[in-house]
Amino acid sequence: MKKLEELYSGKAKSVYATDDADRYILQFRDDTSAFDGKKIEKLARKGMVNNVFNAFVMKRLEEAGIPTHFDKLLSPQEALVKKLEMMPVECVVRNIAAGSICRRLGITEGIDLEPPTFELFLKNDELGDPMINEYHIASFGWGEAQHIERSRELSFAVNDVLKPMFLEAGMLLVDFKLEFGLYRGEVVLGDEFTPDGCRVWDVETREKLDKDRFRQNLGGVIESYELVGRRLGIDFDEATAVREGVDS
Ligand code: ADP
Ligand code: UDP
Repeated sequence: MKKLEELYSGKAKSVYATDDADRYILQFRDDTSAFDGKKIEKLARKGMVNNVFNAFVMKRLEEAGIPTHFDKLLSPQEALVKKLEMMPVECVVRNIAAGSICRRLGITEGIDLEPPTFELFLKNDELGDPMINEYHIASFGWGEAQHIERSRELSFAVNDVLKPMFLEAGMLLVDFKLEFGLYRGEVVLGDEFTPDGCRVWDVETREKLDKDRFRQNLGGVIESYELVGRRLGIDFDEATAVREGVDS
């Protein structure tokens, strides 16, 4: 596998072309951002932790029959993924009220949402990722109705796999954000599932173990990401011993 030019550098990851026209390399950097890129910091080990965490979760989802872009880990900070035609839409599933839904609807943080709720946001930092609905997506051509419907179905399927997995490990999966894209006409889960894009609380103490530690300056951000991973059964040392050899 040959790593070719950088195609895109986002807030936390960089996307590289490869000599396979159907594959990209995602590089998880140590950069951490919040509030649509207004708060930015480098946190040591973060790229490795998120890359390995994401690989673990994507594999569990594949095993459960959810199509994902993940192929394999290439190095501590790099993964090989299917090249997707991404939809500029963020799908959010919420099991417990936290974050923007509390501000928007005046809801107390921590209330159980039964059934879990689903929201769509436009991926646009300049506009602050505004909330949108299926009609906006159709009118502005951000995605086809059937693809959005499938994304919603897959989002709930992801919740059905991960919510019990976190609970068994002593954690509440409060909410999470997913991004989907198309691969050969099929809707496939792309981007990442890491503590950067979800909320996770300890089931006993309700301590925040996710990116809210960064947003709210609670400290111990990466230590906490690793703790979540270890509780799920991830061995970060073993995983980073993986080296597929990428030619640059
Ligand atoms: P952002 O773009 O929000 O700053 P990142 O720093 O995570 O986010 O950048 C990664 C970019 O790569 C995102 O725009 C994401 O939509 C895109 N992406 C993720 N997975 C794939 C994939 N399999 N194929 C194509 N693009 C992808
Ligand atoms: N989220 C994300 N990227 C975004 C916006 C939200 O990964 O650009 C995640 C966030 O970490 C949380 C969930 O989506 O797990 C819901 O976020 P919310 O709408 O509450 O927004 P926030 O208050 O976190 O900005």
